[in-house]
Amino acid sequence: MPFDADFKFEKFEEYYGDIEQVKKIICNCKVCGTKLVLSHLSDYKNLVVQETARCPECGSGSRKKIHVLN
Ligand SMILES: [Zn+2]
Repeated sequence: MPFDADFKFEKFEEYYGDIEQVKKIICNCKVCGTKLVLSHLSDYKNLVVQETARCPECGSGSRKKIHVLN
C-alpha cells in the first residue's frame, strides 16, 4: 500500500537503548529531565493520535508528534 508511506512520522531510529531508556527519552525533558506533560488528541477517523509534550518546569522539550494507529 503506497498510502502507508505518507504516514511514517515517527522515527524509531531516534530512540536507542533498552525500553526503559527509550521511555526516558520520550517522557522526560531533554533540558532539565522533568517528566513531560503529554496530551493526546485522538483522531480515529484518520487513525492517528496527535501527541503534544511540554515540560512544566522549563517550558522546553515541547514537541508535536503524530502516532499512526495500526
Ligand atoms: Zn525542562
